[in-house]
Amino acid sequence: MSAPVFSPAPTQVAGRPGAFGNATGLVCRECGATQPLGPFYACSECFGPLEIGYEFPRVTREQIEAGPKNIWRYQPLLPVPDDITSSPNMEPGFTRLVEAGNLARELGLRKLHVKDDSGNPTHSFKDRVVAIALSAARELGSKVFACPSTGNLANAVAAAGARAGIRTVVFVPHDLEPAKVQMTAVYGGSLVAVRGSYDDVNRLASEIAGEEEGWAFVNVNVRPYYAEGSKTLAFEIAEQLGWRLPEQVVVPVASGSQLTKIDKGFQELIKLGLVEDTPYTVFGAQATGCSPVSAAFKAGHDVVRPVKPDTIAKSLAIGNPADGPYVLDVTRRTGGCVEDVTDDEVREGILRLARTEGIFAETAGGVTVGVLTKLVREGRLDPDKETVVLNTGDGLKTLDAVAGRVAPTATIDPSYPQFVQLGLV
Ligand SMILES: *Cc1c(COP(=O)(O)O)cnc(C)c1O
Ligand SMILES: [Zn+2]
Repeated sequence: MSAPVFSPAPTQVAGRPGAFGNATGLVCRECGATQPLGPFYACSECFGPLEIGYEFPRVTREQIEAGPKNIWRYQPLLPVPDDITSSPNMEPGFTRLVEAGNLARELGLRKLHVKDDSGNPTHSFKDRVVAIALSAARELGSKVFACPSTGNLANAVAAAGARAGIRTVVFVPHDLEPAKVQMTAVYGGSLVAVRGSYDDVNRLASEIAGEEEGWAFVNVNVRPYYAEGSKTLAFEIAEQLGWRLPEQVVVPVASGSQLTKIDKGFQELIKLGLVEDTPYTVFGAQATGCSPVSAAFKAGHDVVRPVKPDTIAKSLAIGNPADGPYVLDVTRRTGGCVEDVTDDEVREGILRLARTEGIFAETAGGVTVGVLTKLVREGRLDPDKETVVLNTGDGLKTLDAVAGRVAPTATIDPSYPQFVQLGLV
């Protein structure tokens, strides 16, 4: 099923006029019922998840190209006011799209690009979604900016809150990578480590969101706004390809939000006439140690059975993914699939991307490159079609993943004879 992109008559119950740009309402992804714009995330009819509906004006390529070199160039397609750049905000996006000729050759692909989102302000794709959530929180008058996080979201929320001057409280599993803890704490704000898995942390956050007035949990009660940020990945990929859709795209899956919104982004570009309506295939990538969506895909199920995560790809370690069923829809509808790779294959993926393209990915990038490699080898991804693989985070965040696999070639005294003995000349 695919929710309508356009919704009827403008309605808004919170925020100043124009607070949400061209968004006109919240649309239930299950039953299609519409609700006014406000701090809602569940359908009042069926409790299904809500997403943003729009009434788009005419938008041209030239108009977008004249905008700032960050996600705000797509303001007309996002639920943010047209003066979004006038208040302190992170300026994520417009990350590089790297032509990956070496990796393509190694894998036997005709044309491959890496969309490298490690270049965002806090070094992961999460700056995109947090920027939209922050705008919504401000317009809704929230006094606390909060989230449950597998790590990267914590970094992005803490940084964006610091810059915007809004109080932040982030919740993380107690066993997070040290780098992600430090990269959150450095921005100030409160950081609560919870003895439990991400899914436990998420449950706690939902409970707090229900109790506390004025707390904007970016991925819980302002999730419909937050999720729209992922569309900017689709917009940028298409614009950077010269206003065309890629033929195949490999996307990591945690809650599944990013993957479904990349599809929504492509659909909106088509509907607006900004790109031609050419076919594309979406592939989802998970780590075997947390692969509930991949398991459901393989079993032919429509529902996703929660799992207990155990993988080095902690940024993707969501055992009960909210958007899992929609990931199944998108991958099946576009002729793709969801596949998973072992932790060893994740490490291989990180090293392969670094060795061939000089891009150091975090474990999530190891997952996508690992799945790409597997799909090519098994003949399930067309090597002749132009492919984009996502790297959504920076390798510096997950150094432990490769710690045992990388080391100096040798340690010597400052002596020429010793150097010669190494056999490097
Ligand atoms: C959060 C995250 C994702 C995707 O998350 P979804 O919940 O599926 O939208 C992908 N990569 C990294 C590095 C992340 O932190
Ligand atoms: Zn509904």
